[in-house]
Amino acid sequence: MYIPSICYNSLKNLALKLLGSQKMKKYPLTEYRWQQIIHNDVHSDFYYGVTTTKIFCKPSCHSREPLKNNVLIFKETNEAISAGFRPCKRCQPTGSVTNTDWVAEIKAYLNNNYQQKLTLSTIAAECHGSPFNLQRTFKAESGLTPRQYLTDLRLNKSKKLLRTTDLSIKSIALRVGFSSDTYFITVFRRQFMQTPDSFRLQKL
Ligand SMILES: [Zn+2]
Repeated sequence: MYIPSICYNSLKNLALKLLGSQKMKKYPLTEYRWQQIIHNDVHSDFYYGVTTTKIFCKPSCHSREPLKNNVLIFKETNEAISAGFRPCKRCQPTGSVTNTDWVAEIKAYLNNNYQQKLTLSTIAAECHGSPFNLQRTFKAESGLTPRQYLTDLRLNKSKKLLRTTDLSIKSIALRVGFSSDTYFITVFRRQFMQTPDSFRLQKL
């Protein structure tokens, strides 16, 4: 097994640091299992889930390398599913994953991460597909591009904050994931034919 020597010590330190939390988990993420994951070993007898995306994979999957801290080990696919993880579209640990399942997975990812700055390539990397395929499949299944879905989601969250809080327009814009308040106002006006301020006043 090839272990780059530069990484080895930092991996070992990280492993030691994580040992406490790993003990809480059902199956430990041993150094051997970790190496199987990062080298896409096809001869493995487990699955791994990534807690930030709630997607699980075979170690052989060529999806982007997870952060070690976010990895949970499973022996059976149904353990992963009952822990709330969905099968990866790319390596299909449960057999075939339909486009509908995949789009549900992408929507769940967007619903949990809309506050962050997201690009099509980030979304694709996190949801285990190519940007082109993700965009095409998402549009075919939902009628919207991932960008449109994300904008709708952000606008709806902003309306809730406008109605229920005294936060400034700028804080709301940033909190729901828009890059600036001016951009937020532009998009809001285009969609609802009024400014966030007038929407807020209307509710009083
Ligand atoms: Zn996978």
